Amino acid sequence: MGIVVQKYGGSSVADADGIKRVAQRIVNTKKQGHEVVVVVSAMGDTTDDLRDLAEQVTPLPPPRELDMLLTAGERISMALLAMAVSSLGHEAQSFTGSQAGVITDSVHGKAKIIDITPGRIKSAIDEGHVAIVAGFQGVSQDTKDVTTLGRGASDTTAVALAAALGAEVCEIYTDVAGVFTADPRIVPAAQKLDRVSHEEMLEMAASGAKILHLRCVEYARRYDVPIHVRTSFDTIEGTWILPDTADTEGDTVEQAIIAGVAHDRSEAKITVVGVPDKVGEAARIFEVLAGSEVNIDMVVQNVSAAATARTDISFTLPREDGQNAMAALAKIQDEVGYDKLLFDDRVGKVSLIGAGMRSHPGITAKFFASLAAAGVNIEMISTSEIRISVIVDEGQIDTAVRATHTAFDLDADEVEAVVYGGTGR
Ligand code: ADP
Ligand code: ASP
Ligand code: MG
Repeated sequence: MGIVVQKYGGSSVADADGIKRVAQRIVNTKKQGHEVVVVVSAMGDTTDDLRDLAEQVTPLPPPRELDMLLTAGERISMALLAMAVSSLGHEAQSFTGSQAGVITDSVHGKAKIIDITPGRIKSAIDEGHVAIVAGFQGVSQDTKDVTTLGRGASDTTAVALAAALGAEVCEIYTDVAGVFTADPRIVPAAQKLDRVSHEEMLEMAASGAKILHLRCVEYARRYDVPIHVRTSFDTIEGTWILPDTADTEGDTVEQAIIAGVAHDRSEAKITVVGVPDKVGEAARIFEVLAGSEVNIDMVVQNVSAAATARTDISFTLPREDGQNAMAALAKIQDEVGYDKLLFDDRVGKVSLIGAGMRSHPGITAKFFASLAAAGVNIEMISTSEIRISVIVDEGQIDTAVRATHTAFDLDADEVEAVVYGGTGR
């Protein structure tokens, strides 16, 4: 039997009892004859608590030191989990991201994995030990400093390790039973999906469904790693993330039109008002943002309400990059000659995702009609081949998600979704 990589999220290891429960599960997998590599997140809301603590010390913590602080969260859980596995009579060794060979670039807070050299993990499992790796962290190839890979990135550590080790499966254990047609915290009637294709899961993750980190899905697709998303609180089968039309046996399956509805509360909107309507102005604005490592999501350009021969350019971006982006744009105000900047962080994004959209007309009309009937105003729209996203007022996200879920007949007859733990923070 081959290598199994298991990733346990913060809610699964929230307290000592959770850690013991997870240790038992690891031992059970080991007893089935698998070599087990575990990736673990920080306990409960530890990462958020550490961030809050840093902000109480200084409003703008140096990124290097913030990464040093946040990586401590995963080190606590990895050591405790290794102790719990040992207490059940099985050898376990914990490793930091750096010790596990997770080599990254040097962008603190959102470092990208450049290479994985899991020599020590390989030796540990070859000796029959359980290897337990701290998620969400690595070491910079250039500076040798400790880095973090972005919020929720323990999933990516797990899939990247699974790829590097040639694991037969990467199991992502969390506080819900799998990937649902919408976040069960908002839509109790959401249905669990047996399988989701890579392309649909990429769109869901990119649209804010935080059940899986976006880059872990990209890894899984590139290196052909099967992902099984399931709960650590029960033994039921979860959701398989597989190539576009295959099931777990590799057979082709018929796809539903709509996979689900995702929402995102982490975006903000910036409007550059009164940009001279000349060649090259938009390029200049987005070059400056790219230079500041700001990822842009939606972009809309309108005739300016403020003056003629001018345009207003609005775009959305991660809320946490808002101040950085505003500062970068302020520096080019004279050069570009725009009037002013507006910042709005009271927005949210709601997206409808489904590969069947390609061949079924009328999905957009039905989506917008359901939002209109629910009294939700659309601020911005963007689409891909298999996704339609709208920006709405933050206060209307839940209403929009529920209305869309019902309009596309996704509600289950009987409520099956259970949220086993976590605070949803
Ligand atoms: P973990 O700490 O285990 O990584 P996360 O909080 O990152 O867990 O992700 C699990 C959460 O994702 C669930 O508790 C749920 O609220 C949320 N979620 C959002 N969209 C979905 C979806 N479509 N299916 C399942 N869960 C979802
Ligand atoms: N502990 C980190 C976070 O809260 C990483 C993770 O849980 O995936 O974002
Ligand atoms: Mg997560």
